[in-house]
Amino acid sequence: MTHRTDVVVIGGGQSGLAAGYHLRRLGIEHVILDAQTAPGGAWQHTWDSLHLFSPAPYSSLPGRLMPPQPGQLYPDADHVVAYLADYEKRYELPVQRGVWAESVHRDGEYLRVQTDCGSWQTRAVVSATGTWTRPFIPAVPGRREFTGRQLHTVQYRAPGEFAGQRVIVVGGGNSGAQIAADLAGTAELTWVTQRPPRYLADDIDGRALFDAATARRRALDSGRTDTGGVASLGDIVAVPPVRAARDAGFLMAKPMFTRLIATGIQWADGTRAEVDAVIWCTGFRPALAPFSALRLRGARGHIATEGTRAIDEPRLHLLGYGDWTGPASATLIGVGRPARDAALQIHDLLT
Ligand code: FAD
Repeated sequence: MTHRTDVVVIGGGQSGLAAGYHLRRLGIEHVILDAQTAPGGAWQHTWDSLHLFSPAPYSSLPGRLMPPQPGQLYPDADHVVAYLADYEKRYELPVQRGVWAESVHRDGEYLRVQTDCGSWQTRAVVSATGTWTRPFIPAVPGRREFTGRQLHTVQYRAPGEFAGQRVIVVGGGNSGAQIAADLAGTAELTWVTQRPPRYLADDIDGRALFDAATARRRALDSGRTDTGGVASLGDIVAVPPVRAARDAGFLMAKPMFTRLIATGIQWADGTRAEVDAVIWCTGFRPALAPFSALRLRGARGHIATEGTRAIDEPRLHLLGYGDWTGPASATLIGVGRPARDAALQIHDLLT
């Protein structure tokens, strides 16, 4: 069966909802297709203790402030899921759940989105598929030899199942620091990072990241030098549990090991250590598989964009993957501005 609409948004997490908000404001007919059966995007699947690194009002989508979570300066993931569920209801966003977009094709003046529930003929597509479905693990020698347990951030839930085990956490970003802090005191923890961890100063949180992203956007908009944005501040937000674990001496990061062996790891000096589990907090890649038929991907696997618009396919916009689709666009508060820009450009395209 073929459906028709002016715009198909693929992905119904925060980025897809922000796109829907602005498309609706402009009166553009659209549908939001989301593979999940419930609202909340990736926030439904994070580990139990995850808290935002910004207070609620600094974690808001366009139009509606996130209400504070009673007793928590930094809301937890359940609070974000509840906020996103309320958001899509409040704005009556046309989300269709349990629909997997398999591929996008050119079809004359239209694009055709092929899904597992039929196809959609449309005049523009917004890709808001996120990164959570594409966990990345680096090619470290010996990965297949190791007989212990290996998991990625996406599979980690809580420290209890690792009680007393020798666990290596790999990765010096926020996920690595937070999961290492979560395990500290429960598991026999070793934290390894490719370079020494860089913490933001303790008295600043995600608000400063957003300010830095805003400064970068303003600099770029006015043709001034790139300020470096959030990357210039450091990687790890010292949220209270991370700060506590660090100050208690649990987060003494070691340089990366050179290889995995059957029973553990080998350090650069040749010494070996026995390990029960390795948790790879090594990031994600954008989930762009549905667009492979459009042949838009460049050397780094990204689709070249100008703002959110794909340079080689102006009917396609990409939203929420990181700085390459708009400063801070992979955050709750940061996605509103690129979503608005995308909706305005689509409006121009359609009229
Ligand atoms: P997602 O939430 O991943 O949503 C994408 C949706 O698209 C999903 O529902 C998915 O199932 C669906 N989908 C994917 N492919 C298809 C397809 N082919 N067809 C149909 N549906 C599809 N941000 C903040 O603002 N503050 C924070 O404190 C913060 N902390 C973070 C901590 C961690 C550990 C991580 C990993 C991220 C954090 N972020 C934070 C970043 C950011 O808010 C999230 O990554 C966010 O989930 C990205 O939203 P999204 O809508 O782009 O993608």
